[in-house]
Amino acid sequence: MLTSICGINWGDEGKGRMVDLLSGGYDIVCRYQGGNNAGHTVINERGKFILNLLPSGILRENVVNVLGLGMVIDIKHLTEEADRLRAQGVKITPDNLKISDRATVTMPYHVLLDCLEEDRLAGKKFGSTRRGIAPAYADRYMKKSVRMGELLHPEQLYERVKDIVEWKNLTVAGGYRNAPVTAEEVIEYLKTYGEPLRDYICDTGKLLNDAEAAGKKILFEAQLGALRDVDYGIIPFTSSSSTIAAYAPIGAGVPNLKLHKSIGIMKAYSSCVGEGPFVAEYFGEKAVRLREEGSEYGAATGRPRRVGPFDAVASRYGVRCQGADEIALTKLDVLSDYEEIEICTAYELDGKLTREFPYPDALDRCKPVFEKVKGWNTDISHCRKPSDLPKAAREYIALLEKLCECNIVYVSVGAERDEYVKMK
Ligand code: GDP
Ligand code: MG
Repeated sequence: MLTSICGINWGDEGKGRMVDLLSGGYDIVCRYQGGNNAGHTVINERGKFILNLLPSGILRENVVNVLGLGMVIDIKHLTEEADRLRAQGVKITPDNLKISDRATVTMPYHVLLDCLEEDRLAGKKFGSTRRGIAPAYADRYMKKSVRMGELLHPEQLYERVKDIVEWKNLTVAGGYRNAPVTAEEVIEYLKTYGEPLRDYICDTGKLLNDAEAAGKKILFEAQLGALRDVDYGIIPFTSSSSTIAAYAPIGAGVPNLKLHKSIGIMKAYSSCVGEGPFVAEYFGEKAVRLREEGSEYGAATGRPRRVGPFDAVASRYGVRCQGADEIALTKLDVLSDYEEIEICTAYELDGKLTREFPYPDALDRCKPVFEKVKGWNTDISHCRKPSDLPKAAREYIALLEKLCECNIVYVSVGAERDEYVKMK
């Protein structure tokens, strides 16, 4: 049984929260793309946890967690994140954390290049998290990256690093006129942060295949959302990896296996971190109010998130990209203080109404069409079954289902593990 949990929108929909909830029914949780630019916040009976690289299943004692080959892994960040969680009482050992030998190492010079390029772009910057993700993926396609498995053969790796650093300096020093990187500092870095991870590194494709054959249940945890996918998202304001559910078996290391279910995580309103077109964006007081009510500040970066009402055009596109079989609608409680709630139901593009998400270049010319629906204007955080929800809230959920053409099976009404309603 293979299930994926993926984002329908711009990310930060509450994927970590839903993985934490649903992972109780799974044996393995696997991240398959992205890196430490992810920020998944989980609040449960053990406390509040922020996860960047570790799968959200790490908080369950009996779950094995996998960092798949589609990921780019900052080994210093991973070490520090694991130590931070251990200090919070979380067990992390080679028994419950497995790192793919084919995953790419995000190197210090990737972080440097990410910063140098964003600074060069200045007013035209992409809104990168500056964590080296794009340069690390670029090197993967250039076949110049270091893979985690190479840490198992350090002498060979350190020889290769000398060649890679020489090549990298053509860009770092030659192109950006920055001080060159030295092979010694890179090797020292790999010794400090890479070698202690050696017992965690293995062929996770084999591990997942064996687990599946033995009838184990596997949950794939995506980072970001459909609109940040490197191909299907709002290019170039996307991440550098595939955030799409269909990529999960590939990025996990089991291209031979088929997904059984794709659960799309969709937020009851919109939020977006970083640059780029965001058609249904709120500004001024409306934005401040929604941002505060939803506590919309980046978990990885602390950046204030841009916010807006639910965008049916973008979300319907997201549902399609993710091949979502069902939806978990999150943060419905955030809309509890409104007499009326706005929804973006269409875009006006060059004088014509459209419900189809256009090619990204056209998004700057799109104006949102807002419609108002009745709010419930009462606290819903205590609701645990559909009949507990006020009629207006049930109508809001039904309308979103209709607009997105997908069943909403879970509705979360609070950040804690048990604060949700199973609708069907
Ligand atoms: P992710 O990146 O998709 O995992 O989402 P984030 O963790 O970045 O953002 C979701 C935020 O909303 C986190 O701070 C969660 O604790 C919080 N959250 C999740 N579900 C709910 C909910 O139903 N209600 C409220 N009020 N907060 C929620
Ligand atoms: Mg997040």
